[in-house]
Amino acid sequence: MKRRFGLLPADTTQLEELLHAVAAGTADFLGYPVAKDFDYSPLMPFLQYPLNNLGDPFIPSTYSVGTREMEKYVVEFFAKLFRAPANDWWGYVTNGGSEGNLYGLYLARELYPKGMVYYSAATHYSVQKNIHLLNMPGIVIRTLENGEIDYEDLEAMISQHRHLPVIILANIGTTMTEARDDVKRIRRILDRMAVRQHYIHADGALSGSYSAFLQNRPAFDFADGANSIAISGHKFIGSPIPCGVVVAQKSFRDRIARSVAYIGTMDTTITGSRNGHSPLFLWYALKRYGAEGLAARAQAALEVAAYATGRLQAIGIAAWRNPDTLTVVFPAPEDGIREKWQLASENGWSHIICMPGVTHAHIDAFVAELEAAGVMAC
Ligand SMILES: *Cc1c(COP(=O)(O)O)cnc(C)c1O
Repeated sequence: MKRRFGLLPADTTQLEELLHAVAAGTADFLGYPVAKDFDYSPLMPFLQYPLNNLGDPFIPSTYSVGTREMEKYVVEFFAKLFRAPANDWWGYVTNGGSEGNLYGLYLARELYPKGMVYYSAATHYSVQKNIHLLNMPGIVIRTLENGEIDYEDLEAMISQHRHLPVIILANIGTTMTEARDDVKRIRRILDRMAVRQHYIHADGALSGSYSAFLQNRPAFDFADGANSIAISGHKFIGSPIPCGVVVAQKSFRDRIARSVAYIGTMDTTITGSRNGHSPLFLWYALKRYGAEGLAARAQAALEVAAYATGRLQAIGIAAWRNPDTLTVVFPAPEDGIREKWQLASENGWSHIICMPGVTHAHIDAFVAELEAAGVMAC
């Protein structure tokens, strides 16, 4: 019997049902930091090609079906935005903030194999896994009430391990409350303590991509004292495929670079094959919006966050947010509401994240449901 290739009717139905579910789920979620207002349809033709940015983006590979030029543009855009030292920056488009954090910590470990990693209790879950993978010792630092690192505790812990190089993972927007650790203040602590061997990696997965556009620019970038910065591309910017960017000082990446004959380039990234479509999405977004457009996008999202906070408070819910953030924190509502709006919860708190694509109408619908459920201030 000849096998006929193609989907069975049941398979087609399954695909259609999935499409419906995905569309409905995207319309309703408010709890995860993912922009949903993007339109990359002009890039559809690229789905027909095996794009792969194998190896180092800045060094051509023998495999040339890829988007290196776009990737370099994206890295340069963020290197400049993050005030990286001229002629001493490098980076690549990652599979997300987690990989960028892994990369920053990897560079730190190569520089200081005996270093101790300090990170706050509010740090993203992937960081603990990363330092485990890298076999690095780490110390968890207390947080202040808003989720920011407790600088006094940090100083006390460093002084207990003075003989070890200091590696800091600073949060530029924690997962639950979007608190930003002040990199300048951390640098001042290191200087005051005369710590000579130090490395600061900024986890900007959540708000690193828009913090530079704020009028009150938070202290988080290279000029403030960071040595590497990771951001997510599918959060504030928006992408159908999870992705991110890591920017580091080039002198540090040079220490780990290894030339590989088979791919004809340097093996400087974490994975072998690398997604060639993601750089295209990010490039497209940067070209479409430019710095000015991204700044306006951030302002619009901040306005929605302020609106949401006000609306929640007006019905008696103890909602709050850190200054200049898109995350509104409030006591966790009942299960049904959390499921429908896909609200993450931790220690009795939930949050909504007003990423681009969340509108006043979404907030109004959400608040109306909370009100109908009779949610009161706790
Ligand atoms: C989302 C997030 C990460 C992980 O980023 P991915 O892009 O999901 O890999 C890391 N840290 C923080 C603070 C985040 O919000």
